[in-house]
Amino acid sequence: MSEKTYGEQIKEELSYSNKSAAEIMTAEQIEEAFDFSEGYMIYLDNAKTEREAVKFSVLKAIDAGFERFEYDREYKPGDKVYYINRNKSLILAVIGKKSVENGVKICAAHIDSPRLDLKPNPLYEDNGFAFFKTHYYGGIRKYQWPTIPLALHGTVITEDNTSVDVRIGEDESDPVFYITDLLPHLDSSAASKTLASGIPGESLNALMGTLPIDDKKVSEKIKLSVLKYLSDRYGMKEEDFLSSELCFVPAGKARDIGFDRSLIFSYGHDDRVCAYPALEATLALDVPEYTCVTVLTDKEEIGSSGNTGLNTNYLYDFLCEIASAQKVNVRKMLANSSCLSADVNACFDPKFAECYEKRNSALINCGVVITKYTGSRGKSGTSDASAEFMGKVRKLLNDNNVVWQAGELGKVDQGGGGTVAQYVAKLNIDVVDVGVPVLSMHAPYEAVSKLDVYNTFKAFEAFYKN
Ligand code: MN
Ligand code: MN
Repeated sequence: MSEKTYGEQIKEELSYSNKSAAEIMTAEQIEEAFDFSEGYMIYLDNAKTEREAVKFSVLKAIDAGFERFEYDREYKPGDKVYYINRNKSLILAVIGKKSVENGVKICAAHIDSPRLDLKPNPLYEDNGFAFFKTHYYGGIRKYQWPTIPLALHGTVITEDNTSVDVRIGEDESDPVFYITDLLPHLDSSAASKTLASGIPGESLNALMGTLPIDDKKVSEKIKLSVLKYLSDRYGMKEEDFLSSELCFVPAGKARDIGFDRSLIFSYGHDDRVCAYPALEATLALDVPEYTCVTVLTDKEEIGSSGNTGLNTNYLYDFLCEIASAQKVNVRKMLANSSCLSADVNACFDPKFAECYEKRNSALINCGVVITKYTGSRGKSGTSDASAEFMGKVRKLLNDNNVVWQAGELGKVDQGGGGTVAQYVAKLNIDVVDVGVPVLSMHAPYEAVSKLDVYNTFKAFEAFYKN
């Protein structure tokens, strides 16, 4: 082997750049990553809304020996509990050997995703069609939602306060729902419109049926036919929409992408792609040194407000309970705690290279991405992790051979976004965003790399175990 030149030595010892996980990981580790993604894809198919994610995660937790959290109970090292907040967010905790006075370790991911919610009074009939009107939830590019198969998911509280779950459009034998679009033959007036104005929010109305009930006398027979179906199948009346949370999500299952099957195609990677690795890392814990707390939260996509979102007190209240059970000063516990805000970042896409700054973007297959700050217009609306905490996280990942990269959300002033990190920071906890780079984020179907997903799991595992 020839000797390295002076320049090559300096480059090797001093310089930094993203490294490909595909080149660093062994064939065995790559196989583990592919195996891990199979479990993840099952999670994706079963957990398309926050309610479904809570249900499915709790079943897995119970299987792993977790018990329902009880107030005013003393817990000992190795105890595993889950706390369900209003069926829409979930906290899992494994009590550690050390007193929680030394701080707890938190992974916080969200389980809500952009979608089309039904309006409170959604059903109407127009020119031979019955439609449901929607109000979109989270940031979407509206033109992406017509002409794709949609499934209806959610929960209805009927007149007598019975809770009925709805999930239609996922089984091969189910019908799907559909938002129409204009044919290209007639788009001469629409062709000059921008992507943002082409499909207005009020036109995202899904087609529900076309056949009338058999009665000559009444009007809106197609609407009545839909009501009859809903009554027969779910025991619901039109007024019950008011006490329901129903939404359209893209129908169908997660799939592999590419000849090499290296990527995963699915609805809702943001943020199940962090929620699932955090969940798995938690369920695999035995008796950790520090108490580990995983929160799978709701409402992130609309600003974390509402009592199931992290800009409210439910996580703080839970942490107070953990502290008081050990007779520990909660403020001391919080000051010593740390958190990985487990959320996605944008993956560099060469098709839209002009929107990214490549040196500071997450690249595909380069591992879990650490995002020091998010925000927009000069880092507004972010927690901006400290150099000290970044140093700890970086050392942790290096010591545990996790493939990681640093990333920023697009070019300066190109746009921006936020995560739950700022709401965790508000509790006086060290926090940084750590997660998976996503292609076509917030599109009906997004894509991620299996190697990146696995390195994210390894990151959470290392965080909890060290
Ligand atoms: Mn997210
Ligand atoms: Mn998002």
